[in-house]
Amino acid sequence: MDVLIRMMSRIDDVLETVGSGDVVSLPQIVAIGSQSSGKSSVLENIVGRDFIPRNSGVCTRRPLKLDLIKVDRTQEIEWAVFSHMPDKIFTDWTEVGLEIVRDTERLCGTNKSICDTQIGLRVFSPHVVSLTLIDLPGITRVPVGDQPEDIEDQIVNMVCKYIQRPNTLILAVTAANVDFATSEAIKLARRVDPSGRRTLAVLTKIDLMDRGTDAMDVIMGRVLPVKLGIVGIICRSQADLNKKTTIREALEKEKKFFRSKYPSVAARSGSAYLRRSLSKLLVEHIRATLPDLTMKISLLRRQFQSQLANYGEPVKDFSGNEVKSSAIDIIDGAGYFTTDELAGGARINFIFHDTFGSTLAQVNPLDGIAPVEILTSIRNSSGTSSAVFMPDRSFCTLVKKQILRLEEPSIRCIELVQEELKRIINDALSAEYQRFPRLSNKLRDAVISSIEMRTAPAKEFISNFIKNEVSYINCKHPDFLGAKKSAISKMTGDSEHGSEKRECAIVEFLIQCYFNIVRKSIQDHVPKVIMNFIVNAVKDTLQGFLVTTIYKMESGSERNMKELLAESEFIAQQREELTHMLKAYSQAETILQSVRNETNTL
Ligand code: GDP
Ligand code: MG
Repeated sequence: MDVLIRMMSRIDDVLETVGSGDVVSLPQIVAIGSQSSGKSSVLENIVGRDFIPRNSGVCTRRPLKLDLIKVDRTQEIEWAVFSHMPDKIFTDWTEVGLEIVRDTERLCGTNKSICDTQIGLRVFSPHVVSLTLIDLPGITRVPVGDQPEDIEDQIVNMVCKYIQRPNTLILAVTAANVDFATSEAIKLARRVDPSGRRTLAVLTKIDLMDRGTDAMDVIMGRVLPVKLGIVGIICRSQADLNKKTTIREALEKEKKFFRSKYPSVAARSGSAYLRRSLSKLLVEHIRATLPDLTMKISLLRRQFQSQLANYGEPVKDFSGNEVKSSAIDIIDGAGYFTTDELAGGARINFIFHDTFGSTLAQVNPLDGIAPVEILTSIRNSSGTSSAVFMPDRSFCTLVKKQILRLEEPSIRCIELVQEELKRIINDALSAEYQRFPRLSNKLRDAVISSIEMRTAPAKEFISNFIKNEVSYINCKHPDFLGAKKSAISKMTGDSEHGSEKRECAIVEFLIQCYFNIVRKSIQDHVPKVIMNFIVNAVKDTLQGFLVTTIYKMESGSERNMKELLAESEFIAQQREELTHMLKAYSQAETILQSVRNETNTL
């Protein structure tokens, strides 16, 4: 037991340092068997404390989960806490026993009913091995009191739920004064553990066997073989309890009994031997789980390590080069996302090609021009002599008006991109630079104000671009000339005098042609202007920021830098926590290594 205690407490240390019970599950010991076979008594002998309620009637009516927790030897006190009343500390074991009865009655009534809601009890003591023991209601056939008809099925299901977990060691308890061949405990254990790897049989009440019979055949495995062994023990009888016999006295008496009545198997019988066997099984179990535990712990340790690496080194030394290089890193990073992400950025491209493109396409070149307007302009431009049709002059006035209609969507496009850019900068900075909120705020302010500053000239440029288009209608534009020639010859045909209707159609056609040329050019230019005036400016601003910041650092105005590189409290705190966890996990790894060495020498 000593080795086990040492190992368990080391593993406890591991679990405590890493603060997680989910990482590993240590074995649970579950006692199963018929009612009154002595399950609670056996567990009590293992623990060496008498607070598990037991008597000759039905008393274990709910699963009792007993977590034994080894505490520092310097504290001589022992105490217990129930999970249903976490604030109350029990130091009197009689009180603990009474509370178990009380809470059982609260849920199951007073008339022998059972239920599967577990009672949780944590016992803290310097004298125990850290273990989890589970005491279950006994298997019974005939319903008594308020028990339902299917009481046997209910209990069997409940028991199976506990013992089918591969991590449990099954203590199959059978009383020596019943037929071992029909033992309910062995029957159930075999169902969930057919190979018998985790079943240990316990034979109780050997002192109560009929005169002339003995337990030798059973203990030797001649009735039913049990791979891990069949251990005969004697617990305190009801009479012993009434006489207030202590566990220590009972253990002495048990020893004497086996020496005199079963000398050939005395060395492998009794409660002390049961504890040793159990301890050996647990050590083996621990040895088997160590590789897995070690792997999990080291995996988690590596995870913490890489998380920590992401947060970077703490910025403490403000005079050193470290600060400078971390500032450069940050600003470099910012430069990276603007040049690469924005220029080819999907969000901005969408505005250019989909939003802007389709708005322009929707502008109808002839919208807002009434036929009478065209006629008037034709008449005006041909003056008094109506002999020659001169479409150019009339079309020029009309097309200028239409071109102006392209200004509004172009300006709108600039505004949309501006908004989107601000959003992108915001997102990127808050995602990437949360570590240094002040620096990132300052960077954001600089970039956003430069975006705003560059927007006005961009708008002005576009307005001028449109003014240029309007100020001179280039009737000799190569794309226009061809279209015009073919249209006029087609529409006038061989007739010398074009009718007004025909002339109108020609003017309309020319407006469309010219308008399309200008529209194409605007669609091509606006994105270029935006890139040149605004998006690239973001890049310039960042570079400027970099240059001045580094210059400031080099010229020694460190106070400014100190402020800028102040970390967010959140990050600092996260780093601290991670550092702590990392240390704990590294420690856990070391402990595990030494436990492994220890098991290898066993
Ligand atoms: P459980 O229902 O299986 O939990 O059985 P308990 O542990 O409550 O024991 C039932 C009764 O049998 C109690 O009165 C115990 O004192 C008594 N008992 C248990 N083991 C022994 C034993 O080895 N010898 C004697 N004489 N009585 C025992
Ligand atoms: Mg019991």
